[in-house]
Amino acid sequence: MNPKKIVTVIGARPQFIKASAVSSLLAESGLLREVLVHTGQHFDANMSDVFFAELGMAPPAYHCAIHGGHHGAMTGAMLAETERILLEEKPDAVLVYGDTNSTLAGCLAAVKLHIPVAHVEAGLRSLNMRSPEEVNRMLTDRVSRWLFTPTEGADAHLAREGAASGQIHRVGDVMFDVALRHGARVHPGDGLLGRLRQTRGVRPGEYCLATIHRAENTDDPARLATIVEALTRLARDVQVVLPLHPRTRAVLAAQGRLDALEQALVLVEPQGYLTMVQLEKYAALIATDSGGVQKEAFFYRVPCVTLRDETEWQELVESGWNRLAPPADAAQVLAAFRASLGSIGKNIAPYGTGDAAARIVRQLAQDLQ
Ligand code: UDP
Repeated sequence: MNPKKIVTVIGARPQFIKASAVSSLLAESGLLREVLVHTGQHFDANMSDVFFAELGMAPPAYHCAIHGGHHGAMTGAMLAETERILLEEKPDAVLVYGDTNSTLAGCLAAVKLHIPVAHVEAGLRSLNMRSPEEVNRMLTDRVSRWLFTPTEGADAHLAREGAASGQIHRVGDVMFDVALRHGARVHPGDGLLGRLRQTRGVRPGEYCLATIHRAENTDDPARLATIVEALTRLARDVQVVLPLHPRTRAVLAAQGRLDALEQALVLVEPQGYLTMVQLEKYAALIATDSGGVQKEAFFYRVPCVTLRDETEWQELVESGWNRLAPPADAAQVLAAFRASLGSIGKNIAPYGTGDAAARIVRQLAQDLQ
């Protein structure tokens, strides 16, 4: 029997990581064949290539090199290019991940050509319609044929919005699969952490790891200033290691804040997945506005402060592993950092058993035969 063809559309850092779990199993399945499309949304070597290399992914069959510009222009260009590829490839299904413009473009191009869409990480909701991620994920869920959810809460959101129960497949979180597969590969003494110990005195178990990249923080000068002030004040007690996302770096440079931050914090470039896992695993605290990093903090049982007004990973807040600190007031954010240091949450297991990717591949293979 000819294997059925799946076109996977990805373009941003977290999608390379999530797709690595599924792509390897698609390749092994014999029943399905994957054609990988990289929209180009993230394109720097340290935001893209490094993940393909570290996580053993084949290079994409198509690289569209679309990045930058406003949401409409970027999504529109991706839509046109993905449509062209889908017309050429004529796949049996399209696979998309998460909540970026690449997700929405891949999904829209497919449904308009009557190609069924599978959405991995379906059903997550922050309920903040001003966030581009929320718009992307809601629209994608609405028109997808397969809704692969990570959590019970995600199922509940979809059911409430009227998704048919036969469409919802709770498979668990593919990022948990990846963490289980690769998390044990890192150790505290080598790599970046080893070097930072030598050069900056950063000691495993005694520093805060921070990431900031969401538009709601980088594009709002008051919020960004609050985050910078809170991290700078924290850094007087606990070293703060900040792998700086290119967007955040550009904004801070334009505001003339980069030099001062460089003095106060340990600024590093965006890291590959394994180095990031190393930094996460041996941190005393994680402060982030990333969706994925919130979960990884929990995977490694590190307390987390989320620098946002809300989170789609609500179970981590409810269980005490994560504290929301809306960046409105630096003193309050600092208080959240201090309260979280040394804290632990309840013993929960909301993200499945590490076989989300296998379940996805099995379901697609079964339904496409
Ligand atoms: N990540 C990474 N290097 C970094 C920062 C993040 O490998 O310098 C990884 C992180 O471990 C997680 C994913 O990127 O697996 C999260 O992506 P990001 O924060 O860009 O997006 P989000 O999860 O918010 O969509």
